[in-house]
Amino acid sequence: MDAQGVDVLLLSVGADLPWLIGYEAMPLERLTMLVVPREGDATLVVPRLEAPRVTERGDLFRLLPWGETEDPLDLVASLVGAAPVAAIGDRTWAQFLVDLMARTPGTTFRRGSEVTGPLRAVKDAAEVEALARASAAVDRIAAELQGGQIPLVGRTEAELSAELSRRILAEGHHRVNFAIVAAGENAASPHHEAGSRVIREGEVVLCDFGGTMLTDDGAGYCSDITRCVHTGEPSAEFAELYAVLHEAQAAGVAAGVVGRPAEEVDAAARDVIAAAGMGEWFIHRTGHGIGVEEHEDPYIVSGNTEPLVAGNAFSIEPGIYVPGRWGARLEDIVVSTPDGPRSLNEAEHALVAVDA
Ligand code: ZN
Ligand code: ZN
Ligand code: ZN
Repeated sequence: MDAQGVDVLLLSVGADLPWLIGYEAMPLERLTMLVVPREGDATLVVPRLEAPRVTERGDLFRLLPWGETEDPLDLVASLVGAAPVAAIGDRTWAQFLVDLMARTPGTTFRRGSEVTGPLRAVKDAAEVEALARASAAVDRIAAELQGGQIPLVGRTEAELSAELSRRILAEGHHRVNFAIVAAGENAASPHHEAGSRVIREGEVVLCDFGGTMLTDDGAGYCSDITRCVHTGEPSAEFAELYAVLHEAQAAGVAAGVVGRPAEEVDAAARDVIAAAGMGEWFIHRTGHGIGVEEHEDPYIVSGNTEPLVAGNAFSIEPGIYVPGRWGARLEDIVVSTPDGPRSLNEAEHALVAVDA
């Protein structure tokens, strides 16, 4: 906060609060807000009925419960006082910010991520291990998919998506964040919504899934993996496309070295696809940071000149999408370490033909 010139940090719903104190605010019209002054003690303004769920951390913050007939924004405004600059969590509901601004006319508001983003982007050893546990859990599901243990042909995308979701929970996540299933021509749409399309023999099935796994201190860390399987042997043409993707993804992982600008990591993967003449079919960035949120800093994208630092965790997920025909994506979570990039996902990277 000192470095950013921020006098008070205000955190409500979203991932910043559980990341910092292990408590996730209910997304309610009743306000929960942690008020962190640059100097002095932090205060958690919380609805009285939610207060029993908060684990008190006297060393970190005091509790200020409010009753149903009180106005919590008056409490927050009095804690903000005459602070010239406040940073407020990016996911805070607009209704609270609008009303708070009316009560604190001398205060300039900035995004909370100016303070929390750079801190959250650098994972400590415990956070890396939390990400590794979540990654290992989805690796096991990917292995079951590739091993033919999950039925495919004859089921709808939505049925397979529901099964992946059940397995994400059974593997110890407390929340499913997404389970994209895209069969055949639907795989050309990167964020395809799994639907009534029935999976057939002889086509690609793209599965991109992940959830959030709780740690002992109340924060949750995310998993995110993409694997493609093929129902029966792929055509030579699709196998060639996938081979290019496989090589591009490996190049992206290998480029995740401390000190290298994020955009060069993007380029390392992209250049392989472009050299194969498929550059126009890679229509998104190579990756995103991951931690308590699925998408956070650092973004692996052209234009991000920030060098990677040890502890950055991010996806490497190039894709090749041919509209109307097919598509493929391959995704691992990678951590930059002083010893080089460490991939947290180890499920088979090749295109596996399954009989399921
Ligand atoms: Zn995505
Ligand atoms: Zn993904
Ligand atoms: Zn991802």
